[in-house]
Amino acid sequence: MAPTGKTKKKRGSDRETKKNGGEKKVKEEAIRTIETFHVVPRLIVFDLDYTLWPFYCECRPKGEPCLYPEAKGILCALKEKGIDTAIASRSATPDFANAFLEKLGIKSLFVTKEIGHSSTNKRDHFQIIHSSTGIPFNSMLFFDDDIKNTQSDRFLIWE
Ligand SMILES: [Mg+2]
Repeated sequence: MAPTGKTKKKRGSDRETKKNGGEKKVKEEAIRTIETFHVVPRLIVFDLDYTLWPFYCECRPKGEPCLYPEAKGILCALKEKGIDTAIASRSATPDFANAFLEKLGIKSLFVTKEIGHSSTNKRDHFQIIHSSTGIPFNSMLFFDDDIKNTQSDRFLIWE
Protein backbone atom coordinates (compact mmCIF):
# COMPACT_ATOMS: atom_id res chain seq x y z
CA MET A 1 0.00 0.00 0.00
CA ALA A 2 1.35 3.42 -0.94
CA PRO A 3 1.96 5.76 1.98
CA THR A 4 -0.64 8.44 2.44
CA GLY A 5 0.28 12.11 2.61
CA LYS A 6 -0.23 11.96 6.37
CA THR A 7 2.15 9.00 6.73
CA LYS A 8 4.78 10.71 4.60
CA LYS A 9 4.44 13.85 6.74
CA LYS A 10 4.79 11.82 9.96
CA ARG A 11 7.90 10.06 8.60
CA GLY A 12 9.36 13.44 7.68
CA SER A 13 8.58 14.73 11.15
CA ASP A 14 10.13 11.62 12.77
CA ARG A 15 13.26 12.09 10.65
CA GLU A 16 13.45 15.75 11.73
CA THR A 17 13.06 14.81 15.42
CA LYS A 18 15.78 12.14 15.08
CA LYS A 19 18.05 14.63 13.27
CA ASN A 20 17.56 17.31 15.94
CA GLY A 21 18.18 14.75 18.69
CA GLY A 22 21.39 13.70 16.93
CA GLU A 23 22.53 17.31 16.61
CA LYS A 24 21.85 17.91 20.30
CA LYS A 25 23.87 14.84 21.27
CA VAL A 26 26.80 15.88 19.04
CA LYS A 27 26.65 19.42 20.43
CA GLU A 28 26.74 18.19 24.03
CA GLU A 29 29.65 15.87 23.30
CA ALA A 30 31.52 18.66 21.49
CA ILE A 31 30.99 21.01 24.46
CA ARG A 32 32.37 18.38 26.84
CA THR A 33 35.41 17.93 24.57
CA ILE A 34 36.03 21.70 24.31
CA GLU A 35 35.83 21.99 28.10
CA THR A 36 38.73 19.55 28.49
CA PHE A 37 41.11 22.10 26.93
CA HIS A 38 42.71 24.88 28.99
CA VAL A 39 43.48 26.89 25.87
CA VAL A 40 41.19 27.06 22.86
CA PRO A 41 41.51 28.94 19.57
CA ARG A 42 39.70 32.26 19.26
CA LEU A 43 38.64 31.46 15.72
CA ILE A 44 38.14 28.20 13.83
CA VAL A 45 38.15 28.49 10.05
CA PHE A 46 36.44 25.84 7.93
CA ASP A 47 36.65 24.95 4.28
CA LEU A 48 33.27 24.04 2.74
CA ASP A 49 33.44 21.29 0.07
CA TYR A 50 34.18 17.91 1.66
CA THR A 51 34.87 19.61 5.00
CA LEU A 52 31.46 20.88 6.15
CA TRP A 53 29.42 19.18 3.43
CA PRO A 54 29.96 16.01 1.37
CA PHE A 55 29.99 17.44 -2.15
CA TYR A 56 31.47 20.06 -4.46
CA CYS A 57 29.16 23.05 -4.77
CA GLU A 58 29.44 23.12 -8.54
CA CYS A 59 28.30 19.48 -8.72
CA ARG A 60 25.17 20.04 -6.70
CA PRO A 61 23.44 23.05 -8.21
CA LYS A 62 19.98 21.56 -7.70
CA GLY A 63 18.27 19.90 -4.78
CA GLU A 64 18.61 20.25 -1.07
CA PRO A 65 22.12 20.59 0.32
CA CYS A 66 23.15 18.66 3.41
CA LEU A 67 25.96 18.87 5.95
CA TYR A 68 28.09 16.05 7.30
CA PRO A 69 25.98 14.64 10.17
CA GLU A 70 28.11 16.10 12.98
CA ALA A 71 28.82 19.49 11.42
CA LYS A 72 25.90 21.53 12.75
CA GLY A 73 26.17 20.18 16.30
CA ILE A 74 29.88 21.05 16.39
CA LEU A 75 29.32 24.55 14.97
CA CYS A 76 26.60 25.18 17.58
CA ALA A 77 28.89 23.93 20.37
CA LEU A 78 31.66 26.28 19.26
CA LYS A 79 29.23 29.20 19.24
CA GLU A 80 27.95 28.33 22.71
CA LYS A 81 31.53 28.18 24.02
CA GLY A 82 32.32 31.61 22.53
CA ILE A 83 34.70 30.32 19.86
CA ASP A 84 34.19 32.23 16.61
CA THR A 85 33.96 30.39 13.31
CA ALA A 86 34.66 31.52 9.75
CA ILE A 87 34.76 30.09 6.24
CA ALA A 88 37.64 30.03 3.76
CA SER A 89 36.53 28.41 0.52
CA ARG A 90 37.85 28.53 -3.04
CA SER A 91 34.51 27.47 -4.43
CA ALA A 92 34.09 27.73 -8.18
CA THR A 93 30.47 28.69 -7.52
CA PRO A 94 30.35 31.15 -4.58
CA ASP A 95 26.70 31.95 -5.31
CA PHE A 96 25.73 28.30 -4.79
CA ALA A 97 27.86 28.10 -1.65
CA ASN A 98 26.14 31.14 -0.14
CA ALA A 99 22.70 29.83 -1.11
CA PHE A 100 23.48 26.45 0.50
CA LEU A 101 24.64 28.12 3.73
CA GLU A 102 21.38 30.07 3.77
CA LYS A 103 19.24 26.97 3.08
CA LEU A 104 21.05 24.99 5.76
CA GLY A 105 20.36 27.74 8.31
CA ILE A 106 24.02 28.08 9.35
CA LYS A 107 25.03 31.31 7.63
CA SER A 108 24.68 33.37 10.82
CA LEU A 109 27.01 31.05 12.75
CA PHE A 110 30.08 32.46 10.98
CA VAL A 111 31.66 35.79 11.89
CA THR A 112 33.06 36.12 8.38
CA LYS A 113 32.92 34.19 5.12
CA GLU A 114 35.65 34.30 2.48
CA ILE A 115 34.16 32.39 -0.41
CA GLY A 116 36.12 33.28 -3.49
CA HIS A 117 36.55 31.93 -6.95
CA SER A 118 38.93 28.97 -7.28
CA SER A 119 41.62 31.30 -8.66
CA THR A 120 41.91 32.92 -5.23
CA ASN A 121 43.96 31.21 -2.56
CA LYS A 122 43.49 30.43 1.10
CA ARG A 123 46.44 32.57 2.05
CA ASP A 124 44.58 35.62 0.69
CA HIS A 125 41.44 34.47 2.49
CA PHE A 126 43.32 34.32 5.78
CA GLN A 127 44.77 37.80 5.32
CA ILE A 128 41.24 39.14 4.83
CA ILE A 129 39.88 37.16 7.79
CA HIS A 130 42.73 38.47 9.96
CA SER A 131 42.08 42.06 8.83
CA SER A 132 38.33 41.88 9.36
CA THR A 133 38.39 40.11 12.74
CA GLY A 134 41.64 41.44 14.21
CA ILE A 135 42.37 37.91 15.44
CA PRO A 136 46.05 36.94 15.21
CA PHE A 137 46.94 33.94 13.05
CA ASN A 138 48.32 32.04 16.02
CA SER A 139 44.85 32.13 17.62
CA MET A 140 43.22 30.49 14.59
CA LEU A 141 42.67 26.83 13.78
CA PHE A 142 42.00 25.70 10.22
CA PHE A 143 40.13 22.63 8.92
CA ASP A 144 40.33 21.64 5.25
CA ASP A 145 40.02 18.27 3.52
CA ASP A 146 42.70 19.20 0.98
CA ILE A 147 46.14 18.78 2.53
CA LYS A 148 47.63 21.17 -0.05
CA ASN A 149 45.64 23.98 1.54
CA THR A 150 47.01 23.30 5.00
CA GLN A 151 50.72 22.84 4.23
CA SER A 152 52.82 25.36 6.08
CA ASP A 153 54.56 26.67 2.94
CA ARG A 154 51.20 28.06 1.86
CA PHE A 155 51.10 30.07 5.05
CA LEU A 156 54.40 31.90 5.13
CA ILE A 157 52.55 34.73 6.83
CA TRP A 158 52.60 32.60 9.98
CA GLU A 159 56.35 32.07 10.03
MG1 LIG B 1 37.42 21.11 0.34
